[in-house]
Amino acid sequence: MDDRGPRVVIVGGGFGGLAAAKALRKTPARVLLIDRTNHHLFQPLLYQVATAVLATGQIASPIREILRKQHNATVILGEVTGVDVNHQSVLVNSTDREDVPIPYDYLILATGAGPSYFGHDEYEKFAPGLKSLADAVAARNKILQAFEQAEAEEDPSRHRDLLTFVLVGAGPTGVEMAGALAGLVRSTLRSEYRRIDPSAARIILVDLGSRVLGTFADDLSRAAKERLERLGVEVRLGHGVDRIDAEGVIVAGERIASKTVIWTAGVAPSPAGGWLKGETDRAGRVRVRTDLTVAGHPEIFVIGDTASLDQDGKPLPGVAQVALQQGRYAGRLIHRRVTGRAAPRPFRYFDKGNMAVVGKGFAVLQSGRVHVSGLLAWLAWAAVHLEFVGQSSLRISVFLQWVWTYLTGQRGSRLIVNHHASANDGARTPSGPERQPAGTR
Ligand SMILES: Cc1cc2nc3c(=O)[nH]c(=O)nc-3n(C[C@H](O)[C@H](O)[C@H](O)COP(=O)(O)OP(=O)(O)OC[C@H]3O[C@@H](n4cnc5c(N)ncnc54)[C@H](O)[C@@H]3O)c2cc1C
Repeated sequence: MDDRGPRVVIVGGGFGGLAAAKALRKTPARVLLIDRTNHHLFQPLLYQVATAVLATGQIASPIREILRKQHNATVILGEVTGVDVNHQSVLVNSTDREDVPIPYDYLILATGAGPSYFGHDEYEKFAPGLKSLADAVAARNKILQAFEQAEAEEDPSRHRDLLTFVLVGAGPTGVEMAGALAGLVRSTLRSEYRRIDPSAARIILVDLGSRVLGTFADDLSRAAKERLERLGVEVRLGHGVDRIDAEGVIVAGERIASKTVIWTAGVAPSPAGGWLKGETDRAGRVRVRTDLTVAGHPEIFVIGDTASLDQDGKPLPGVAQVALQQGRYAGRLIHRRVTGRAAPRPFRYFDKGNMAVVGKGFAVLQSGRVHVSGLLAWLAWAAVHLEFVGQSSLRISVFLQWVWTYLTGQRGSRLIVNHHASANDGARTPSGPERQPAGTR
């Protein structure tokens, strides 16, 4: 790496961080991108890994490979644990060392968000979220395992609980996951089991709000709900979960027995606000100025899901486009400073619209006054997602898989991958006289 020019440290290789790094490709600076994973993840398609449509390698790419041609960029695998703003350094835990200080002249924090259990962190153990590749594989294991367990279970009265799937949160992730799960049980798995009927599985989508896809217009939200119901999803609105435990959930006083509960509700920003000890909003996101820097620190930028910026009196949403546009802006601003040019105009988000898929061949699309639902919206969704899915080789394989799944109902990756064979040990119950091992009758 060239040792001349200022050091630009970027923390996070997600949508925002990667866009910033790429915007700095012609800058006479040393760009250092630090991420705790070795890959850039396309989070909008995580639910397709969780429901076995795509494999992990189709929605994520090594950051090192993406930046291989950018000679001013170095990629470091490590977890940032803090920022020393006085000495201008970030503290990094790498595989063999802790709190190693890495100096910066400019810092871009793009550390994203994680799930929020709204003060009930104890739910996490029973209702894992969907934020990382590991989460998606864990959810896929859980879903496929439930069918295996039910097939092996000779007592039919237990099938219903095993084949009840509860999704908590009817935002885009919950709705997309519910639609894809419905496709899995009603089509892909239908003919493969002998003792159970996978298509009889219950999929329940629960939300405290009165609408699914609450950030979309009323007509689209209604269209999505009708579509879900046509796919056999039970949509329960107006009540949050009162409790989640090993036996399932309690909603509006009613216990719903389920072995598979997945949390698709709130998100909480990364701890970047605590590292900087600066101003944050109520959710804990770092308040930034219109040039995306932190008050009093023109050298520190915070972007994407972990930043808080109002535009036209409303906070910008935590979506990929905001992170991408902010990343590009921060990169360009630093480029202009380093090359002695005037600062650009304040950051302004250009809203290209929102989309969500509701099962096979159906999506809702909202862009300004344009509201579309159905196949046309789904085709637009597929085209936009393919465009952003990363490298061209992945684009081709994802496209082919979608066409194959659309035509045949078959999915790309239905493997149960337990990295530790003993993962289920705690869940086993002893087989007594009244509970004979499967297959002994
Ligand atoms: C399941 C799901 C579905 C979504 N669907 C959509 C959608 O359909 N459309 C849409 O627009 N948006 C969607 N989003 C939101 C979108 O993915 C986010 O808004 C976007 O990823 C934010 O980008 P970011 O760069 O701020 O953070 P991220 O993309 O989350 O990247 C953060 C990066 O920082 C790294 N990191 C975090 N902490 C540290 C640390 N301490 N040290 C080192 N590295 C660290 C992480 O490993 C990660 O690579 C979805 C999100 C999820 C979870």
